[in-house]
Formats: sequence, C-alpha cells, structure tokens
Amino acid sequence: MLRYVTTNAGKVREAREYLDGVEQLDYDYTEIQAAELGPIAARGAREAYRYAGEPILVDDAGLFIEGFDGFPGPYSAYVDDTLGVETVQRLVEGEIDGPRRASFRCVLAYCDGESFEASPDPVDRDDRSAAAAAGAAGAVGGSDDGDADTLPVKLFHGTVRGRIVEPRGEGGFGYDPIFEHDGTTFAEMSAVEKNAVSHRGRAFAKFAEWFESRSE
Ligand code: IMP
Repeated sequence: MLRYVTTNAGKVREAREYLDGVEQLDYDYTEIQAAELGPIAARGAREAYRYAGEPILVDDAGLFIEGFDGFPGPYSAYVDDTLGVETVQRLVEGEIDGPRRASFRCVLAYCDGESFEASPDPVDRDDRSAAAAAGAAGAVGGSDDGDADTLPVKLFHGTVRGRIVEPRGEGGFGYDPIFEHDGTTFAEMSAVEKNAVSHRGRAFAKFAEWFESRSE
C-alpha cells in the first residue's frame, strides 16, 4: 500500500484527488537542513521506507520570493513559525518594488526500495545523468538529493507562480493569505480550486501519471 508521510490529514485528502488508495503514515522523519527541497524530501522518503517497509511518498514544499533570491524557500516553515506570514508580507512590501513575484514549489519523493525504469519526463533524465556524473551506482532517479545513500528515490516537482500581496481570505494554511495566483489568493480559493493549480497538486498529478503507468 502507498503511504503518504504527513501529520496533515488535509494533505492526504488532497492527494486522494489524484491517487486512489493512498494512506497516511504519521511518522516523524528527520528533517535535514538543506538549500534545496529535493534532498530534504529524499532523505525523509528513505528513512520512512526503512521504517515502514512499504512504498513511501514524502513531500517538502516552500515559498520562494524572487526579490529575496528565493528566501524563505526550504526555511519556509521556520520563517512562518518565527516571523509569521504577515511580517514576511510587510518585509516584501518594504524591500521590493514592482510585481513582488514568488512561487510555491513542492517536491514529492517516492521510495519503494526498487530501482526505477527510465521514464520520459525531463526530471528523471536530469536525475539519471546527475547520478551517472556522480558515479552513484544504482541511485537512479534521485541523485540531485545529494545523499550518498543509494536507495533509489524518484522526485516529482510542482511549481505555481504568483505574487505576494496583503493578506486576503480565510482558507488554507501557512502563506496562503499572502500568495495571489491569477488575481485570487490561495486563502480565497476552495480546497478543490487550490488543489487544481497548486504546487502540491501539480507534483501529485505528475506522480500519479507515472505511478499508474508503472503498475500497469
Ligand atoms: P511542508 O513541507 O509542506 O511542511 O511546508 C513547509 C512550509 O511551507 C509550511 O510550514 C508552510 O509555511 C509553507 N507551505 C507549504 N505549502 C504551502 C501551501 O500550500 N500554502 C501555504 N504555505 C505552504
């Protein structure tokens, strides 16, 4: 059975929009500090796979503000907890002129202990050539995680572009009230509307397509 490692039951409901039969695994894996999302998700997937012995999905996500060189990015949860999103918005307004562009990014890491066949998506090709360049025998499909561990992990990326605005809306969580996409903040969207365009939804759509073709 496919296990989605998260403490957030709402994320599992979102995942089920794309995947039948995915179940929550409430497991607290070690979140390493890294400048990229991929290594964090990949390490978590390996650790959770060793723990559960079942196919595992781990996600890591963050808000990347262009005018701040991508900050807070992988540190989004920490910045949300310490500064809060309204302070982030005020900092952006004070420091950045113009459209205040930002993106949410999500990386899904899949691990089931098996090696992966080549697939036509460009992420996989890049990962495979990076694996070859790094000489990481067997580490197919996830070597951009920078982990010397060769348990194969496949990564799926999702991005949504938008801009930082004054907080609007009551829904969602985290940075949703200050992230506007196509004129609407994520906090103003229903869960279904957000899921259809969000970074996590896009990563799940890619994963679901690959996963279903793999089990055929
Ligand atoms: P996680 O990797 O999904 O736990 O996300 C890390 C942090 O990024 C969270 O604590 C949120 O602050 C932020 N974040 C990730 N995804 C979203 C989203 O869809 N909306 C708002 N904030 C998000």
